[in-house]
Amino acid sequence: MTAQTAAGRTPLIAGNWKLNLDHLQAIAFVQKLAWTLKDARHDFGAVEVAVFPPFTDLRSVQTLVSSDDLPIRFGGQDCSEHDSGAYTGEISAAFLAALDCRYVIVGHSERRQYHGETDEQLAGKIAAAHRHGVVPVLCVGETAEDLETHGPSAVPVAQLRAALAGVVAGQEIVVAYEPVWAIGSGQAATSDQAQQVCAALRATLVEVLGEEASAATRILYGGSVKAANVAGFMAQPDIDGALVGGASLQLEEFASIVRYQKHVGTV
Ligand code: PEP
Repeated sequence: MTAQTAAGRTPLIAGNWKLNLDHLQAIAFVQKLAWTLKDARHDFGAVEVAVFPPFTDLRSVQTLVSSDDLPIRFGGQDCSEHDSGAYTGEISAAFLAALDCRYVIVGHSERRQYHGETDEQLAGKIAAAHRHGVVPVLCVGETAEDLETHGPSAVPVAQLRAALAGVVAGQEIVVAYEPVWAIGSGQAATSDQAQQVCAALRATLVEVLGEEASAATRILYGGSVKAANVAGFMAQPDIDGALVGGASLQLEEFASIVRYQKHVGTV
């Protein structure tokens, strides 16, 4: 039995570690995760699992994953729109590519909020990721205030449209719908709410990139995802995975999210 979604997209369960776990803790965590998921490898071979550790962990994670041939992907939590130069503190997509990062998160709400990242900058980061063969995971989502003022889809759709400014069909991108009010709050969107916005995001992908590219693009839901609610999200036609924050740091909980198929019928 494969875990492909009804639309034929490979589900992606991704853990955003944020500012947690140093390189030694990262090694221990990834080793245990791989061990815990060894059955998942067989039963759920089509679920892609990815972790997003802090930058200083990436070399250690890369070495472990490649030496033990682990079925775990990894990526950076951000990248610069520049490839190199006088940009103190920045990390380029070229450096991430050199460490075998498959993905990079772009435009997480914490970057937008605490670092003032603009849609224009994010379009530049996406272009930088694509220049180096790294797949951007673009986060979009409305605040509680946006929801009140503009309804659920307007802000995420506008953010997606702006970020796609330089993207053409055939350049892979993953979109993560993360309502800001649901992140870290313990209060996830309902699966119907999330589906409604993800359907609007997919319609925008059709408009901007065309039917085929839209059908191939994975849209994740993020915001207080847990083992207890993941199956409800995964049952939605326009949701192809989850971006998980807090619960991705709890080994058993994260493994259980990866095994969401086991929860079908429990929601
Ligand atoms: C996130 O920050 O991307 C996130 C989804 O966090 P949490 O799962 O903790 O809500």
